[in-house]
Parts: sequence; structure tokens; C-alpha cells
Amino acid sequence: MLFDYDGTLTPIAARPEIATLPEKTRHSLAALNEMDRFVVGVVSGRGLDDLVAMVGIPGLVYAGNHGLEISGGSMHFVHPETPDFESDLAGVSRLLERELAGVPGILVDNKRLTLTVHFRASPEGYATQVDEMVVATAAPYVAAGKVKITRGKNVVEVRPNLDWGKGNAIDKILEDCGDNPLPMFFGDDETDEDGFVAVQNAGGLAVYVGPPRQHTKALHQLESPAEVGQMLALLVRLAEPDEQ
Ligand SMILES: [Mg+2]
Repeated sequence: MLFDYDGTLTPIAARPEIATLPEKTRHSLAALNEMDRFVVGVVSGRGLDDLVAMVGIPGLVYAGNHGLEISGGSMHFVHPETPDFESDLAGVSRLLERELAGVPGILVDNKRLTLTVHFRASPEGYATQVDEMVVATAAPYVAAGKVKITRGKNVVEVRPNLDWGKGNAIDKILEDCGDNPLPMFFGDDETDEDGFVAVQNAGGLAVYVGPPRQHTKALHQLESPAEVGQMLALLVRLAEPDEQ
């Protein structure tokens, strides 16, 4: 059972450091992970160390930076091409810090392997301007084939120009899960879509977290992180008798 973090396990917060995991959800994830039949993991755009600290459950599988780094089970994976991009991302990060300095509430978060510009805390109306400034600032690096720009909920991201995302990370985690795992992935945003495709191609379940009728490839839906929490608690109750 694999989960995105922000917007899936926890409501999206004004600043990433205050998006703490609800205690009940933490308890349920830990309880499921204790059971032999489950492997539990979190696949996020956050940096790996940050993600591990926010979730705080030992023994889970963690994939950070949209799957460029994975830790858990028998895996200690870093995409082999990431060192080629670190100096470019650092360069873009310095330029963005300078260019976006005048935007109130802006946060440029260089997570070493990917970079996220958060404008959730910026006043209404800054979204287009921030997007244009990120595109213009990163343009030389994009033209050189070094980085690509992706978008999510109130974020613009600068990522290495690699054909690698959450779906690839999920495939890799599944290889580590023994025979015939039934994969499930829960997510709420654009970068989760290739994760949905990966689990559905493997015969598993993809669950979009958010209001109904959104454009998504996931065939299942839960309304909110609160509903994900309720589902997890229910699953623990249903699974526990068999484990004893
Ligand atoms: Mg999310």
C-alpha cells in the first residue's frame, strides 16, 4: 500500500513544514506495516530525509524527490544520473531566490534532486506571475536539456530532465515485494498520475484523493485525507483478527 504524502495522508498546509501527519493515520500505517501481508510505503515529491522525518514510522518504504531516491526493505536506491543535475538545480535555485525575492509568501525549496517553488502562501493573483518567472528563469537550463518544469497544487517544480517519476519508483518497490503483490497507490496531484497507471498496469488499485469527477486516470476515489484516514482505520480493524 503506497501513498503520496501532501494532500493524500495529510491536508495540504500553507507551508510544507506544518503539514504534519494526523496521529490516527500514523497509528494505522504503523499497524498495517506490522502485519506480514502488508508492505507500506510513502512516495512523495519531498526530499527523502524530510519525508522520513514527517512520517516518522520506522520500517516503511520511503521514496522521495518523486522517486529519484528510495529507502526501505532491501532498497537503498538513488537514480544513478542524479549527480549530473545537482549543480544545475543549485544554479536555478540561486537565480530563483533572487528573481522571486519580491513575491510575498514565496518559498523556493531546493531538495537537492528536485526543486519546488511554493506559492500557496502568496496573495491571490501571483500564480501566473510566479509560473512565468520560473519558466523564464529556468529557460536556459530547459533549452540545454538539463531540467524540466512540472506543476502541482500551488507549486511549480524544476526537475532533472529524466524520464523517471513516481510510476518508475512504484515499479521498483513492487519488484522488492515478493511474488504477486497487489499494489495500491493513493495520490492527489499531477505527479501521482503515472503512479496510478503503474499500479493499474500491475493489476492493482489506484485511488485519487479529492472531489469527484476530477480529470484522473485512477479508477477509484476518496474525498479527502480524512477519508483516507478512515479507510486505514477500517482496514486495520478488518485485517487484525486474521493476524492474531
Ligand atoms: Mg500530493
